[in-house]
Amino acid sequence: MRNKLIAGNWKMNGSKPEIRSLIGGILARLDPARSAEVMVLPPFPYIPLVQSLIDHTPVLLGAQDLSPHASGAYTGDVSGPMLADWGCGHVLVGHSERRALHAENSEQVAEKFVAAQSAGLQPILCVGETLEERDAGRTTEVVGEQISAVIDAAGINAFARAIVAYEPVWAIGTGQTATPEQAQEIHAEIRAQLTKEDATIGGRVRILYGGSVKPDNAAELFACEDIDGGLIGGASLQAESFMSIYQAA
Ligand code: PEP
Repeated sequence: MRNKLIAGNWKMNGSKPEIRSLIGGILARLDPARSAEVMVLPPFPYIPLVQSLIDHTPVLLGAQDLSPHASGAYTGDVSGPMLADWGCGHVLVGHSERRALHAENSEQVAEKFVAAQSAGLQPILCVGETLEERDAGRTTEVVGEQISAVIDAAGINAFARAIVAYEPVWAIGTGQTATPEQAQEIHAEIRAQLTKEDATIGGRVRILYGGSVKPDNAAELFACEDIDGGLIGGASLQAESFMSIYQAA
């Protein structure tokens, strides 16, 4: 049985007062009787603040990106050991906004995946196709290659300490969600690809869905066999909508 995970990617949003209020709202709505886990992924400068606010609570802390390097002359970058130092246990790698806006390719994403694990962080590997790729019938190929690049660099065993997030690019921030059938189909393909390499790891790895998840579509997505929770962008910025999604898990 894979435990559901609801992770909130705040992207480049928030201020100190907004974050205090958001975390307060999340903590007030946490239900110890539920097995689903909650994670927040703040922008870098707010990680220490969030860490102090969620200390001694079950809320997990992650970051949105990391450098492939552990330290050195990389002005503006933040490394895995720094994130671990501030209490992060997870980090996104390969979010489509990083792939598109920072031209990160799958090999660079794989380097970041390896760097995260070297620092003791669990990477959340984001994969997904653009609308053009879907319309051309290339979804399976594109997602398969994004996963393969990481298997090639890190090895299948690395997926025992990682999470995958399927995020169709056309569904991120657009209000256009994949149907449960569309999402489940790709989740099952990702699991099959990993299972082919190692049945235990493929069966255990959590695969989150991301792309315009909202309180009113979360339950039907999370009911799918291979959907183990959600990576939530816009709806994670309000405690009420984020925690309604958590309640749907
Ligand atoms: C995301 O940023 O990963 C995301 C899924 O965003 P949204 O929920 O806003 O589509």
